[in-house]
Amino acid sequence: MAVLIDGKAIAAELRAELRQAVQRLWDERGIRPGLALLLVGDNPASLVYVRSKAKACQEVGFLSIVEHLPADTPQAKVLEYIDRWNEREDIHGILVQLPLPRHIDEHEVLLRIHPRKDVDGFHPENVGRLVLGLPGFVPCTPAGILELLRRYAGPLSGKHVVVVGRSNIVGKPMANMLLQKTPDANAVVTVCHTGARDLAYFTRQADVLIVAMGVAGAIGAEHVKEGAIVIDVGVNRVVDPSTGKERLVGDVRFEEVEPKVAAITPVPGGVGPMTIAMLLWNTYRAATGEVWKQ
Ligand code: NAP
Repeated sequence: MAVLIDGKAIAAELRAELRQAVQRLWDERGIRPGLALLLVGDNPASLVYVRSKAKACQEVGFLSIVEHLPADTPQAKVLEYIDRWNEREDIHGILVQLPLPRHIDEHEVLLRIHPRKDVDGFHPENVGRLVLGLPGFVPCTPAGILELLRRYAGPLSGKHVVVVGRSNIVGKPMANMLLQKTPDANAVVTVCHTGARDLAYFTRQADVLIVAMGVAGAIGAEHVKEGAIVIDVGVNRVVDPSTGKERLVGDVRFEEVEPKVAAITPVPGGVGPMTIAMLLWNTYRAATGEVWKQ
């Protein structure tokens, strides 16, 4: 039986630690971390994500502002909100929920967020800092995965980690974090994408396999090495034929892969809760200013 990597429990621990840190920050320096969340349009998944992020902020004692704008909001209006939050001293983090409606240029919007308030780690300055190995904000999902691996995978140095997916929010930052020449990384990293002719050839070599494809059940027993550690980032909505209801599944066929591996994340309850916990910690660090220290 594989060990079940319990992201939900670890995220709860991290949030409990954070609640205490928030109280100390208030007692000692009179600072309450503040996060502004901007949602444009009515994408149902985005609505759920923004609501759960705002709720998580309240639970740890942050100030949180949610601005929900109609789908036809002009880009200039979105930039105005960001400019205002960039100026506000009680707002330490700014998050624009992606995807944005098509008429809005995502890169322009992300570029407008002050890098010191960019708690999602998507601003080119923070992306560059990550690649160069300088302190800065790192994207929340790969940061959460690294926390899981610290607890379940032992030292990553010298291990072969295969990342399937090269998106700017998961695959690329994940690979960059893992290959840093630091004691908690230093892995040998392979990144796969749709250009891989024989995906299983690569994934079967992985000591740690991180799958962020967005394709329900794409990874089966034939893709994994005996005793590997598997992190399933995928969140896919499928209709369960037995109930006719929608449910969430990962990119990995859990029942098939679990008996073969040493440890595996469930979906839901694996990577997802860690993403929000990391967002909260990034916002806390933005409030303390410590993220920019060497
Ligand atoms: P994305 O932007 O759609 O990227 C998917 C990546 O997978 C792409 O690089 C794509 O390759 C690659 N890919 C797709 N099919 C493939 C195949 N058959 N063989 C090899 N590579 C393949 O997705 P994303 O934003 O990274 O998200 C990935 C999944 O993670 C989604 O299910 C998303 O919902 C989930 N997610 C979860 C969390 C969380 O907190 N739990 C956070 C973020 C994302 P190409 O580049 O060649 O197209």
